[in-house]
Amino acid sequence: MTNDIKILVIDPLDDEFFNILNDKAVIIKAYNCHQNLIELVRDVSVIVTRSSHKIDKAVIDNAKNLKIIARAGVGLDNIDVDYAIRQGITVISTPDASTRAVAELTMGFIIALARRMTAFNRFMQDGEWCKNSTFGVELAGKTLGIIGLGRIGSQVAKLARAFRMRVIAYDPYISPVKAKKLKVELKKNLDDLLVESDFVSIHASLTSETRGLIGERELRLMKPTAFLVNTARGAIVDENALVKALRENWIAGAALDVYSEEPLPREHPLRKMENTILTPHIGGSTVEAQKKIARVLAMKIVKTLEKLGENGLKK
Ligand code: NAD
Repeated sequence: MTNDIKILVIDPLDDEFFNILNDKAVIIKAYNCHQNLIELVRDVSVIVTRSSHKIDKAVIDNAKNLKIIARAGVGLDNIDVDYAIRQGITVISTPDASTRAVAELTMGFIIALARRMTAFNRFMQDGEWCKNSTFGVELAGKTLGIIGLGRIGSQVAKLARAFRMRVIAYDPYISPVKAKKLKVELKKNLDDLLVESDFVSIHASLTSETRGLIGERELRLMKPTAFLVNTARGAIVDENALVKALRENWIAGAALDVYSEEPLPREHPLRKMENTILTPHIGGSTVEAQKKIARVLAMKIVKTLEKLGENGLKK
């Protein structure tokens, strides 16, 4: 028993994960263990997390047996990856598993913003019938500006093309060939994208370069009729500037799934905005994505432990 691999799971996962690993290792479930994470990691070989726990230098230093940090989902910004790698720890994630789910949520946001669905829903819930109070717009012929043409950005581009939208993108790290294949016009600078777009959708990774990428100056460049969608990472947008932009109608509205601080504080001014749709970081929260994340992650853990020559896995 002493040689058994110990896997610490600190965020809930679909049963598929446990079905694969229950017989092979000792699984310790400790959800939302922000306070005592440092103690819990002491003798585990694997830490499995989503995005809400910080796996920083202090946590890594305390985990003397740690071999793998497994991130269920995509985006490694809650993990000190450089430090982990320097300590010989392997960091794995499931970058593809939630791509479709996030792309579909993005399209849902775009349609809901275009047709003012939340405003009409509120009228109906208030017992009103304000059929002609405002008109929506159609997606066909409108320009969608995608910031970050990676996995999700590319998927959104394909879906948007099916709605006959013109799709432009800004991503300094992808090849023009990839953009061409997707029938996306690649912009050399962000300003051009902001000026031209009817919808701006953020799909970049959070890096020192993209933190605060969309601030007051950028929001002022957008059309007053344009909408902003962010399903990537909250910190890419300066939220104070966004509140100002929404209050003063520099843009027509926004839909957000991610925030610089999560959970979004109860009294945050974004919660009070009329022309805004907010969801609590549910981009990957579909049954299909959760099953896929759990299955792929469990299999990657098994493979990585085998590759590392760990013999504690039960057959
Ligand atoms: P990805 O790595 O495939 O794509 C990210 C793209 O951003 C890359 O093409 C990269 O070149 C580009 N990029 C980097 N710096 C840039 C810059 N300065 N300007 C413009 N583009 C830049 O990642 P992905 O899987 O497509 O995920 C996209 C985003 O969605 C990430 O931020 C990820 O964390 C987030 N995400 C959110 C959820 C959710 O639940 N809402 C779920 C999964 C992923």
